[in-house]
Amino acid sequence: MSAAHAPACPRCGGDGLLAARVPHNIERPDGHLVRGTTQVVLCPGCDADQPAAGPLITYFHVHGQVNDDTVAQCADLIHTWVASIHIPPADIEQIDAEAEAWRSGDL
Ligand SMILES: [Zn+2]
Repeated sequence: MSAAHAPACPRCGGDGLLAARVPHNIERPDGHLVRGTTQVVLCPGCDADQPAAGPLITYFHVHGQVNDDTVAQCADLIHTWVASIHIPPADIEQIDAEAEAWRSGDL
């Protein structure tokens, strides 16, 4: 989990600090539950104003990377950040489409 492996921010195209896969279950209109995950990228530009992301961005600015002394602090910050993430409806529709394609054998 270092900055070097984080993907680019999908919003601004800048370098992401880290990426997380967030469990994301979707209940379809027929009541069927589709289990899935979606990837979110922590971006120092786009997320700096987010109350839950700001401290994590600051952490990376201060420490640069995770080590044994700071891993617990980092884990707390990541947990707070992930818990604050709200996935836009557009992503939900895309995941649903992927699930449909998978079930019908297109993927
Ligand atoms: Zn960004």
